[in-house]
Amino acid sequence: MTFSWTPHRFSGGALALDVANSVILRFDPARSIDRFANPENLDAFPEAASRLCAERRDAALRPLPVGRTQGLIRLREAIDRHFRAEAQDAPSPLMLADLLEEIARALRLGGPGELDFETAQSALRLISPTRAGALKICPNCEWLFLDRSKNKSRAWCDMAVCGNRVKARLHYYRKRQEKDAS
Ligand SMILES: [Zn+2]
Repeated sequence: MTFSWTPHRFSGGALALDVANSVILRFDPARSIDRFANPENLDAFPEAASRLCAERRDAALRPLPVGRTQGLIRLREAIDRHFRAEAQDAPSPLMLADLLEEIARALRLGGPGELDFETAQSALRLISPTRAGALKICPNCEWLFLDRSKNKSRAWCDMAVCGNRVKARLHYYRKRQEKDAS
C-alpha cells in the first residue's frame, strides 16, 4: 500500500508536534513505524505540511537539504520526549536542555522554509508559557497534540479517527458482553 500524508497525520496543531507524530505507535516496538525512515515520505512531508499543518508560516516549507536528516531526527526525538513529559506533568530540566540544544543546532544550520529550522521555531513557540493551547496526549494513538479549543475539552488527536475507533471498540465489547450474558 502506498503511503500518503493525509490530513489526519497533521492533527498535532503545531509543526513540531506533527513532526513528532511521524512515528506511529512509538511505544509498541512490534507495531511502531517511523514514517521518516522512508526517504520518499520524508521528502514529501514539507509540501504536505505546508498545506495541512494547522500552524501558519509565512514561507512554504521546502524539502530538507542533503545531510540534515540525522539532525532532524534528533530534534524530533527531543521534541517528543520533552513535550510528552510535560503533557504528563513530569517535566525534566534535562529533557528541556536536550531539546534546546537540538533547537540551537537546527537554527544555526538552517534557514526560513527549511524543515528542521521551521520545526525548531515551532518547538520554541511551544516552550513559551503563552502558547495558544494545552498540550495533550491522545489516549488512543499516543500522538501529541495542542488543544486549541476554548474550554480545553478536546480528548483525541482527531475525533474522526481515534475518537471513533475507541467508540467502535466500546460498542463491540458492550455487544459481546450482552451476548455472553444472554
Ligand atoms: Zn489519536
